[in-house]
Amino acid sequence: MIEALPAFVQAALPKPRLWGILSTMTGKAALREALEGLEFSGACRFDEPMAAHTTFKVGGPAELWIQPDAACFLSFTPSLLRRAKALGIPVFILGGGANIVAADRGIAGIVLDTGKWAGMLPGRGTEAAGTVGPGRELPGGPEAAGPGTVELGAMAAGRGLAAFRSGTPADQAACLTASLGLGGLEFLAGMPGSIGGSVWMNARCYEKSVSAVLEETEILDEDREVRRVPFRAADFGYKKSPFQNRDVLILSALFHLESRPEAELRAVMDAHREDREAKGHYRFPSAGSAFKNNRAFGKPTGKIIDELGLRGLSRGGASIAPWHGNLLINTGCATAADIRALTDEVREKTFAALGINLECEILFVGF
Ligand SMILES: Cc1cc2nc3c(=O)[nH]c(=O)nc-3n(C[C@H](O)[C@H](O)[C@H](O)COP(=O)(O)OP(=O)(O)OC[C@H]3O[C@@H](n4cnc5c(N)ncnc54)[C@H](O)[C@@H]3O)c2cc1C
Repeated sequence: MIEALPAFVQAALPKPRLWGILSTMTGKAALREALEGLEFSGACRFDEPMAAHTTFKVGGPAELWIQPDAACFLSFTPSLLRRAKALGIPVFILGGGANIVAADRGIAGIVLDTGKWAGMLPGRGTEAAGTVGPGRELPGGPEAAGPGTVELGAMAAGRGLAAFRSGTPADQAACLTASLGLGGLEFLAGMPGSIGGSVWMNARCYEKSVSAVLEETEILDEDREVRRVPFRAADFGYKKSPFQNRDVLILSALFHLESRPEAELRAVMDAHREDREAKGHYRFPSAGSAFKNNRAFGKPTGKIIDELGLRGLSRGGASIAPWHGNLLINTGCATAADIRALTDEVREKTFAALGINLECEILFVGF
């Protein structure tokens, strides 16, 4: 299937990170060896269907799906990743599964799910905790933040810092900071996915990218050591982050925010959610925009696809939404292969008609 594609199609397919060697299925014995003796709490299952963990609702079994609790995440994860590397077991880091298509045959090796590594973090950039929004506390009190609490750092009058663990849903991060009277993340309201995935993707909506508010990212680096990576504008671009070229796990992200009235922020967030509803984002399983926009095309990719009359084009259960050219949906019975075939067809037709090479935004994992 992939081999049959024209070279330009293959070259532009985004490459999600699978740590290690992606070959045949890894084997339960090696996976058990990777886990042996490690202290772990959380969920861990062999042959876990990825359809249950992706917003597209497609995908075969992960050989080993593992979702550590927050309490053991920082001790367990580096050890697991070191073992996996030594044993040649590939690892895929899963956020909210909102931008991936997992292959029907499944994902070899380990899928490390960050979903429980969620919540705000304490003391990152906090010289004068709590100075933003006098008298404000985390909803539910300081304990609500879990192990590692959040405190707000004052950068300057009217500004603040807030850090989130990577598994925190992006929408939740927007809500939490708004409830603290901090603006800056409201553009993420209603967008599925996690903070880790949003930083990795440099997610963008409502004319703003995550990089606009990112101050620092904390990662487990290639040696599985914790490192802080200060934000550098030159490392980021449209839907591009430096982490896309590295085998790292994003642990947390620190954002610089501004003091703003909560009611104002809530109004903006409600408007974004309503806009997404109106655009049919949640009507069917999907991963949002299938293709990236590109200024050089002169118009949004959705419009280009519309004008080619490709709305409603289907392959099996996958379809270009009849109401939006850049939304590829699972009408109920799509396979990952259907989604792949449909993206290939749209790319080939667009190239044939206009010489435009569309770049996939959705990531194909395990193909
Ligand atoms: C209805 C809908 C609307 C959407 N609208 C938008 C939109 O407006 N703008 C936009 O940009 N996107 C949009 N998306 C896509 C998606 O929400 C974003 O790309 C989101 O940032 C993906 O985050 P995730 O946690 O789900 O990442 P995943 O899909 O789980 O992973 C995506 C990539 O990030 C990597 N990754 C995830 N977490 C980590 C981590 N902690 N460390 C290292 N790597 C990690 C994964 O390995 C993978 O390569 C939409 C999706 C849906 C379903």
